[in-house]
Amino acid sequence: MERFSNVIERENPGCFIREFSSFPGFINGCSYRLDFAEGCQFNCKYCFLNDYLESPGKILLYSNYEKINGELKEKYEILKGKTVSLGVLNDSFFPLQIRERIFKLSQIFKRYPEITFELRTKADLKDDLNRIAELPDNCSIVFSMNTPEINKKMEKGTAGIFERINSAENLVKLSQRKIGIVFDPIIYYPEFLNDFIKVIDSIKNHIPEEKIYFIGLGFLRLMPETYKKILDDEEASDLVFSSRFIRGNKDKAVYPMAFRLKIYYRVIDKILNLFKKVNIRFYMEYEYVPEILNLKKVSQEDFTYAGN
Ligand code: SF4
Repeated sequence: MERFSNVIERENPGCFIREFSSFPGFINGCSYRLDFAEGCQFNCKYCFLNDYLESPGKILLYSNYEKINGELKEKYEILKGKTVSLGVLNDSFFPLQIRERIFKLSQIFKRYPEITFELRTKADLKDDLNRIAELPDNCSIVFSMNTPEINKKMEKGTAGIFERINSAENLVKLSQRKIGIVFDPIIYYPEFLNDFIKVIDSIKNHIPEEKIYFIGLGFLRLMPETYKKILDDEEASDLVFSSRFIRGNKDKAVYPMAFRLKIYYRVIDKILNLFKKVNIRFYMEYEYVPEILNLKKVSQEDFTYAGN
């Protein structure tokens, strides 16, 4: 993989680990975040970094990362049993400088086995699978998935969907570790459900059920600046605006709740038919939604079928 030049290093004068600031009444896939870098060269068209950072494609990597050990020590009692995301403001494995930093950080993470560090990616991992397979067990590798249509129109530069499934399959074979799969953002267009079924069937055919720890779901949420950018992009707007949005919190455009529930029912039904015991995780959703969907809480972040 190439070493990108658009990466700068600087000290972080503040703290690295923070509680995930969801709105009250919302659930999110991770309870805490560890921001060791900011920016992402993938430039996905729906990415909230368009609103959050001045130059989203420029990467700032924090040079004083060793300070993270002290913070983990100090916050250990709070963080025990929780998931900390390292993929909020960046992809966890792209570009090379970020990937190398993850390998260094993993030496710190292995001292805290009761904390899960979530590494989430859309990158092509095939060149480095052997090293990634050796990451400590508490590094949870999470593959972002979507339909090939969304990938083609919204995530240029990332690995293709079937390449990601292939990397996930090979990683599981090499390391015997469990992985996570996340569909976020779900963008609804007329053929979405058929395309989703092809992807989830392929995951089922390539990865043993017991090796998938959770499948996460999150619907598209568009911040104002990102919304405007999509309006100006013919290819993306055809896909995104084939459905209706309403204004949610923080002025985000979101799908109406009744619509989200309709899609959740179909998607979760398909997932639980294929993967009987997998956990379901939600990204930025009202906390009452799992119960409506007949799911019960099994951990801080996960839900499972509640039965009849
Ligand atoms: S990979 Fe993630 S962080 Fe990077 S641009 Fe896409 S959504 Fe944003």
